Amino acid sequence: MNVITKISDLRQSIGSLKKTGKTIGFVPTMGYLHEGHLTLAKEARNHNEVVVMSIFVNPLQFGPNEDFDRYPRDVERDTELATMSGVDILFIPEVADMYRGSQSVTMRVKERVDVLCGRKRVGHFDGVVTVLAKLFHLVQPTRAYFGQKDAQQVAVVEGMVSDYFFPVEIIRVPTVREEDGLAKSSRNVYLSQEERQVAPILYRSLKEAAKRVEDGERTPSVITGEMYRIIQENTSGTIDYVEVYSYPELEEMKRLEGDIIIAVAVQFQQARLIDNIIISVPPEEDYHV
Ligand code: AMP
Repeated sequence: MNVITKISDLRQSIGSLKKTGKTIGFVPTMGYLHEGHLTLAKEARNHNEVVVMSIFVNPLQFGPNEDFDRYPRDVERDTELATMSGVDILFIPEVADMYRGSQSVTMRVKERVDVLCGRKRVGHFDGVVTVLAKLFHLVQPTRAYFGQKDAQQVAVVEGMVSDYFFPVEIIRVPTVREEDGLAKSSRNVYLSQEERQVAPILYRSLKEAAKRVEDGERTPSVITGEMYRIIQENTSGTIDYVEVYSYPELEEMKRLEGDIIIAVAVQFQQARLIDNIIISVPPEEDYHV
């Protein structure tokens, strides 16, 4: 595996690869790799001739009171894990190299952003699309791999790619979970022992919600109300949101139909956990046939 830290070196490597016409699978991450990231890398490995992974804790996507400074980092361990997962190029740029002075053009997300995490994390998705636009231009991937765990991110990135004709296919990979159902996340290390024990309630509440929909419930507020009850009864965490939208448009619905996302965020003492499921809801008249 080739570890690259300089943009100029990456440009050279990608330039040579592009001349050979090889397909490039790209996995952008913020590092502190876990099974979720490695699953994206394996997917990229299975469907592309070259795999590029980036590790960059992007300051632009953290709010002033968020965890940029204490975001967990372990480049040595990440390098080992990336090698084992079949990554060919690991790109670890410096902040000063990715953001050289002030930006003369900025990117702002307008749709799919005033809901879920975007409602509270103002500017977060602007930071995400800014860094991804830079990385897509540098890596020139055939396909880029994103986890469904950050489903709003996938929806926003799909919007950017479609609006600005980025020649890349966006692949959404299902959420990888611990045995008890908790979605794997670099931030799980912030959980206290007690919080870690109750954290799987997020996924359990989502599964319960999906079952309700399967049983014929079509009113969003009934679904979210039940989830509130389950989570509140079982954790000390504070619910940030429980929301249901069409997916990937992220629009409100009076009755559930088509592809929908049910999503939850809970704030624990040191960690804010998110999770979601995306399901396909058949039209009502068909349902009862
Ligand atoms: P991050 O390092 O948190 O920015 O995540 C990098 C990529 O890994 C994003 O596309 C995430 O959605 C994805 N990812 C993070 N956790 C998981 C997980 N548990 N399952 C699948 N993908 C994940």
